Formats: sequence, C-alpha cells, structure tokens
Amino acid sequence: MRETDIVRRLGELRQYRNRAVIEGIGDDCAVVRPAPDSDFVFTTDFVLEDRHFTLKEHKPEAIGHKALARSLSDLAAMGSEPVFCLVSLALPANLAGKWIDGFYKGLLTLAREHKITLAGGDLSRFDKVIVDVMCCGRVPKGKALLRSGANLGDNIYVTGVLGAAAASNWSRPPEPRVAAGRRLRGLASACMDLSDGLSLDLTRLCTESGVGAEILSASIPIARGANLDQALNGGEDYELLLTAPPSVRIPKKIGTLPLTRIGGIISRKKPAITLDGYPLRPAGFDHFGDMK
Ligand SMILES: [Mg+2]
Repeated sequence: MRETDIVRRLGELRQYRNRAVIEGIGDDCAVVRPAPDSDFVFTTDFVLEDRHFTLKEHKPEAIGHKALARSLSDLAAMGSEPVFCLVSLALPANLAGKWIDGFYKGLLTLAREHKITLAGGDLSRFDKVIVDVMCCGRVPKGKALLRSGANLGDNIYVTGVLGAAAASNWSRPPEPRVAAGRRLRGLASACMDLSDGLSLDLTRLCTESGVGAEILSASIPIARGANLDQALNGGEDYELLLTAPPSVRIPKKIGTLPLTRIGGIISRKKPAITLDGYPLRPAGFDHFGDMK
C-alpha cells in the first residue's frame, strides 16, 4: 500500500468533526479556528515499540487506543475540552495493511468518544513502530488547571483507583478522565494526571507548587488485585491527582467515577512527601532513571 492510499483511506474514516477544525486531513496543514475568549493547551506523547509495547503482546487496536489515551489524559489534567490531534506514525512496510487499520480503529474509536478530530499527521517507513500523538484542547481564557496552584491547607484527592495498570499490564485500556477534568475546572487549585505513579507525580505537583504533602496509606483507593506499592509507584493509571482548599466541596463522584481524599498540603517549604508520617521516596517511573 502506498502512502497516498493510506491517507485516502484515513480521510474516508468515520470520525468526529470538531467545529473548530476548518480543514483536516488532505492539505499541507490543518486549519483550526480558535474560539474567542479561550486558551489552547497542547501536549505530545511518544508510544514506542519495545519500550511501551511489543507487536507480539499487544493488538494494534490497543496500541492506537493507548497512544491517544496518554495525550487525552494530559488534556483532562488541564481541565480542557479536546479539539484536535495530529498523529505521526512510522512502521515497517509489512504492517501497512491490516495492522494500520486496527491501529486507527482503536485510536478513532476513543477519539469519537471524546469528540476529538484527527486533523493530520505524518507517515513514514521504519524498522520499528514509532507513534507520536499531539493533542490540542481548549479551556476558557485563564482557566487551565495547573500543577502550580496547590496551597498550604489544601486537601489532596485522586479519581478512581490506583495500581490497576501495574497489577494487570494492559488488560484494562486506560480511560482518560476528560469529563472529570472539565468538571474540576474552577474547583481544583492544582491538577495533573497520574502517568508515572503517585509518589513521583505528587512530588512533581508539590515541586511546581512549592509545597509539601502528607498522605495516608489507609486512604489510598487501591485497585482490586493491586497492592500499596503498585498504587504508590506503579504508574500508567491515568487517573487525576488534584488539590482543593477545604472551603471547596469536591464531589464524591463525577458520573460513576469516585474521588477520594488521600491527604493534605502541610508545608509551604519543601516538596517533601510523607506517607503515614514517614518520608516517601518518589519511586515511580522516571524515563531517564536508568541512565547514568
Ligand atoms: Mg501528564
């Protein structure tokens, strides 16, 4: 199959058309018209063969789903509504038929669910599969949820349950918390998504906010089949981690998704985290942690 055939087939795929996308696949660039009084937020994520998945273990549909889910999770963390994505894909020639169809089927099924339009991208031949997904979302001007807004006395919450991904290895596809992120706009003082594990991600949030945190192991919502270590350090949960002042009522549920208070912001000084009163070492997934 030639690149032009793949692009033509992509253009024929049934997908959600976001009104902001004036021109999508087929031209040199996509044309997107910003709504007045809104900010755009952007994120990009790699999904790499033999790093994030293997062709033997993972179906193309699951890889397509996960590639978009990672970026959508970042859009959710900012409290934004998804607008459009660009997907660049490099792959060996022998995957250009059925595999590529499965990949885009998985990606576009999730895209329709979250009302995001695939507006373009790039295709290339390479000896391994490399996926890069860029996503754009919109928020009302100045209303993006940031990591840097946590204050002394704030409560700390997480959505859903933690540790499921570490305990099950992809058996449950990640569900980006886009609706929850939007609902938390104007409520949360700080927010981020949990991609690399609670211990590491909470440290990042505290560093950006210039605060310290205390969390309680008995409060952490651990997924069935997972243990405390997986809930703290497992990563890939794609739940939201947020803070809010005590004066703000955070709902117990958003839709069917539970929110749980796991601790509080206790210091204005160091980004130190304690678990049940003892220092918690950030031990989640650091992409360069194995490099010297
Ligand atoms: Mg993130």
